[in-house]
Amino acid sequence: MNCLFCKIINREIPSSIVYEDDRLLAFNDINPQAPTHVLVIPKKHVESLNDLQPGDDELIGELVRRAAAIAGERGIAAGGFRTVFNTNRDAGQTVFHVHLHLLGGRNMAWPPG
Ligand code: AMP
Ligand code: ZN
Repeated sequence: MNCLFCKIINREIPSSIVYEDDRLLAFNDINPQAPTHVLVIPKKHVESLNDLQPGDDELIGELVRRAAAIAGERGIAAGGFRTVFNTNRDAGQTVFHVHLHLLGGRNMAWPPG
């Protein structure tokens, strides 16, 4: 499949892997926007949140819990962190394989850009 993140899952493209199990992969963003900037993705190819099915609920729950666990390992859970799913054009989605951005290690502005 011609999907950048599927290629990362399949080791066709290198990445800096932070966590892996049979359903999820987490790796460092290549263009980090904060001291911690990790992408947590399902191994199942789903283009965006618009394409989620009821059967994906558990998978997305695992994704969110994994982001929080990585924040804990990095020591940024208590101080706080930002988690973001960009969906389609207006949000600036550039890779059409669902990914949760975990950002932390600095103060985050609100509203976001
Ligand atoms: P989004 O704009 O929400 O679709 O986010 C896509 C993210 O993927 C961006 O933050 C990119 O920096 C990141 N990215 C693109 N290519 C790679 C790569 N080869 N390895 C790691 N992260 C990547
Ligand atoms: Zn994919």
